[in-house]
Amino acid sequence: MFEGLGVLPDYDEPAESDLQLRQSTVESMMLCGWRQGYATEDWYDPTPSEAMFFGSVEHNHIEHHMLNGESLVLHDLSWTIDQIHLLAERDGFSLTDVTTPEGVKAMAREIIEAYRLWLVQWWAKQHTFLKPLAIEQRFLRPLGTLPNGRAVWVHGTPDVLIQSGMIDWKTAGRGWQPGKGEGRIQSPTYLWLAEEVRGVLEGLADYVVYNRQAQQWMTWTVPVGQPQIDAALHTLWQYAMAIDTGSYVPTPASPSGRPGRGWWCQPKFCGAWNGCKFKGLVADEIDLLQIRSKRWG
Ligand code: SF4
Repeated sequence: MFEGLGVLPDYDEPAESDLQLRQSTVESMMLCGWRQGYATEDWYDPTPSEAMFFGSVEHNHIEHHMLNGESLVLHDLSWTIDQIHLLAERDGFSLTDVTTPEGVKAMAREIIEAYRLWLVQWWAKQHTFLKPLAIEQRFLRPLGTLPNGRAVWVHGTPDVLIQSGMIDWKTAGRGWQPGKGEGRIQSPTYLWLAEEVRGVLEGLADYVVYNRQAQQWMTWTVPVGQPQIDAALHTLWQYAMAIDTGSYVPTPASPSGRPGRGWWCQPKFCGAWNGCKFKGLVADEIDLLQIRSKRWG
């Protein structure tokens, strides 16, 4: 079943026909495989939700700080508005489809305020001890070779690597519940990718999470050991085989034993909603005929 996992190509860069895998693609498929399965359809809508886009722009501000230090632009509304436009262009959607110029301004103000709170609540307490080994550095590592000869490469960009592990910036509407960081493949994947830089595999993952509702940054620390890394690599391998053969599994229902539809299976969170053949599996109050609206408001 795992034949080929760990059988590495004898070249350093992916060939055109190889499979390149991002951990974020796998985490999205772990919610519902058909979010990825439908992604190449013409009707698929890649427009992010407001929450996801807010997170991207906030991340971009902290990244700018980590790479350049604090600067006036990070407190300047017009710079933030420019970044919002640039990131929307990068992500391939039109801001006028989703919000108004006033909506953009309101988001920019909230992003600057979240950044200011990050400075007070996290940076001020941590920066004297912080010795980054890498900031926003992209890593690429071969995982194995599929039965058809295609090599599988995993790539990822940890926000900050430190000797004890990694730091990752997140935003969430209501923050995180205890235990949310455990069970993710992100931190074991990133620590495996960065093994050469840190000289060791295991470590701690600090998820620094902004709770938009409470306007508060909290750090959740997750230990990552060899069992988590082994499990993450086997998980990546299974998803690589699924992508290679087009074997996507739809999971509109919550798999955790909780009744009902998973939060991800809603028009605003799934770009595949409009044409999906699986969303009706859960008999609930949601209107299956509704068309996904791009608008955030
Ligand atoms: S609409 Fe639901 S079932 Fe369909 S791809 Fe999206 S999450 Fe999966």
